[in-house]
Amino acid sequence: MTQFPIDLFKTTDTPFYYYDMGLLERTLKELTHASGRFGYKVHYAMKANANPAILAAIREAGLGIDAVSGPEISRALECGFAPESIVFAGVGKSDAEIALALEAGIACFNVESEPELDVIAEIAARMGVTARVALRVNPNIDAHTHAYITTGLSENKFGIALERLDSIIERCHALASIELEGLHFHIGSQITETEPFVMLSETINSLIDSYASRGILFRSINVGGGLGIDYGDPDRHPVPDFNRYFETFARHLRLRDGQTLHCELGRSVVAQCGSLITRVIYVKEGLAKKFVIVDAGMTDLIRPALYQAHHKIENITAAPDSPIDTYDVVGPICESSDCFGVGERLPETHRGDMLALRSAGAYGEIMSSQYNCRRLPGSLIG
Ligand SMILES: *Cc1c(COP(=O)(O)O)cnc(C)c1O
Repeated sequence: MTQFPIDLFKTTDTPFYYYDMGLLERTLKELTHASGRFGYKVHYAMKANANPAILAAIREAGLGIDAVSGPEISRALECGFAPESIVFAGVGKSDAEIALALEAGIACFNVESEPELDVIAEIAARMGVTARVALRVNPNIDAHTHAYITTGLSENKFGIALERLDSIIERCHALASIELEGLHFHIGSQITETEPFVMLSETINSLIDSYASRGILFRSINVGGGLGIDYGDPDRHPVPDFNRYFETFARHLRLRDGQTLHCELGRSVVAQCGSLITRVIYVKEGLAKKFVIVDAGMTDLIRPALYQAHHKIENITAAPDSPIDTYDVVGPICESSDCFGVGERLPETHRGDMLALRSAGAYGEIMSSQYNCRRLPGSLIG
C-alpha cells in the first residue's frame, strides 16, 4: 500500500483528491525519456486533469497540450504552455473556439469533418491568417476497450472515414487559408494491449505510402492517446510501460524523412498519481449485505457510474491486524449507480475511517459535478 500522509488527511475536509507529485514527476521523467529516444512529441490530453499544479508539472517536463475546447486552450495558455505546442481536437468546435485558437496561433487543428474544415478556412481567411490542420481519420480499428471509450470504429462519431479522405485532402489543397500538416488518429482509451497500436501503425503505413505515391507528404503523424493503466494493482504498476508503447510505433510505423510522430497521452500520465480520499459516514447492515456509505459520490468520481469502471479501494486508517469483511461501498447520491464497489474485501470498517479510491488522477476531479447541490471536491498536493 502507498504511504499516505494520514495526519494531514485527518485535518482536511473530505472528499478530496490527493495528488502524489513525486509519482507524477517520476512518470513524466520516464515518459519523456521513452519518447525522447525516438524524437516523438507528446501533447498531454488535458481533459484528463486540468488541476493547475498538475499542469505546471507537465509544462515543466516539456510536454505540449492536446485541447478539446476553447476554455482548455485558454487554461493552457494561462499556465504558460506555448501556443505552438497546442493541438486542438473535437467533433464540435464552435466558431468562437476556432477564432480563439487562430488568434492564439496554436500548432494545429485536428479536423474531424468537411463542414468543420470549411468553417475553419472561412474564419482564418476573414482573420487574414493560415490555419494548420491535421485530418482526424477514423481507421475503423477495434481498441478492445469499453464501448463508451472506443472511438476508432466507423460507428463512432469521431473522425473522417477512410473513404472520404481523398476528397477532403483535395479540399485542403484548394483552400488558400488552410495548410495541411498531417493525419491524426485516436482509437480509444484505456488500451492495455499492443495489438490495436500495431494495427493502427499498419493503417498509417498504407496511407503514408499511398499518398506519397501521389506526391503528398504529411509532416505530422499524430497517433492520439489511449495507453491504459493498471487499475487493478496500482502499486505493482505505478508507472505505465511507456517504453513498450513507443517501441511499438518505432517497430511498426514506417515514418519517412521529414515526418514527426506526435501523440496525445492523458490517462497514462496522470491516473496513478491521484487518489480520491473519502470518509465513511455509516456502516449499514442490510439483510444480505453490509454497506459502507462514504461521503464521496459519483459527483466526485463518475467513472464507476459512467463506464462501469472500478477503482481499487483501500481503508487507509484501519488497524493493520483488523479482520477482513465484505462490503458494498456506496456514495450518498440519490442514484443506484452511485456505487464504487460490490463485494469489496476490506479490513473491518467503521464510521470515521478514511478510504482511498486509487488511480483516480485521470477523468476524476475534472469530471466532478454539483448534482444534488454538492460542493466540488477539493485537492491536496503532496
Ligand atoms: C481523450 C483524448 C486523448 C487522451 O486519451 P487517453 O486515453 O486519456 O490517453 C487523446 N486524444 C484525443 C483526441 C482525445 O479525445
